[in-house]
Amino acid sequence: MNAAANLSTSVAELRAKLAPLGQDAYDLETCERYASMVEEINDLKRKRRAVVLAHNYQRPEIFEVADFTGDSLELARRAREVEDAEVIVFCGVHFMAETAKVLNPERTVLLPDMKAGCSLADSVTAEALAERKEELKALYPDLRVVSYVNTTADVKALSDACCTSSNAVKVVEAIDSENILFVPDRNLANYVQSKTRKRIISWDGNCYVHHQINPEEIARVRDSIPGIQVLAHPECRRDVLKLADAVLSTSAMISYAKNSAAEKFLIVTECGLSDRLLMEVPDKRFFKTCKLCQYMKMITLEGTLDSLRHMRHEITLDESVRDGARRALARMLELSA
Ligand code: SF4
Repeated sequence: MNAAANLSTSVAELRAKLAPLGQDAYDLETCERYASMVEEINDLKRKRRAVVLAHNYQRPEIFEVADFTGDSLELARRAREVEDAEVIVFCGVHFMAETAKVLNPERTVLLPDMKAGCSLADSVTAEALAERKEELKALYPDLRVVSYVNTTADVKALSDACCTSSNAVKVVEAIDSENILFVPDRNLANYVQSKTRKRIISWDGNCYVHHQINPEEIARVRDSIPGIQVLAHPECRRDVLKLADAVLSTSAMISYAKNSAAEKFLIVTECGLSDRLLMEVPDKRFFKTCKLCQYMKMITLEGTLDSLRHMRHEITLDESVRDGARRALARMLELSA
């Protein structure tokens, strides 16, 4: 097959895959543009010996170039295991790309857009954490700091262990202390507190995407769609979690939806996950809360192509910060194994 015929096959395949998301957003012209970029990115991946890791909240077209798509914990594990490739292109936000660099320092880690930050990670600085830790140590000498992976590397470096939404309870239960400073998500801290008898002292941060979801929205959908299952992310407020049939990390939501006998689900998290579900589980119906993360959506196919073409936006870390963050991440993987 010649190159033009190959491309038209890819356009047709792409259109079929994106069809469940609606023809308006993915018309023929858009799919032609995307298919040609997907092809170029795949060529560059071979040339540069690169892999693309993508978070579940990414744009649907990004899933087309991803070698692996998952939640924070799965991506951290994958990043650590990358051996054959020399370059990791991280389609996610800055703290996730930093985590990949911490766990696999030999690889070049690229983030297609350096402005892709996170409001939650921004809610705690290393200086503020050091100060609070000292205050609390005076009250609770056995204090341990557990930081959510949605933090910068220098905050991780000051923590005893990291955690993700899927292993937070396990890490807190396994760590050798009864008093935990949990940083930075208050909602996740509340959720963990509901599952443990240990004392959880929470930081006052939140993810603006999840925190804006309110119980009225959930109740409205539940009332209008009989039999719908509500799956909520633990970064949501306590009053929202109370209305959920299951509280799950993003990847656990995918397994739950695939394996459940239910046919209709309300996915209470960032909208990218619903897009992934619509594409991967076409025989079930998914309703979304329509909340987009502006930072996740800064990553585009154009940016990914540009990053690979010019080897642009490399993540670098100070050696001592990297060592500290690596220790806290390793402790998480050990405690949650
Ligand atoms: S969804 Fe929330 S926690 Fe995740 S990157 Fe966006 S702002 Fe940060």
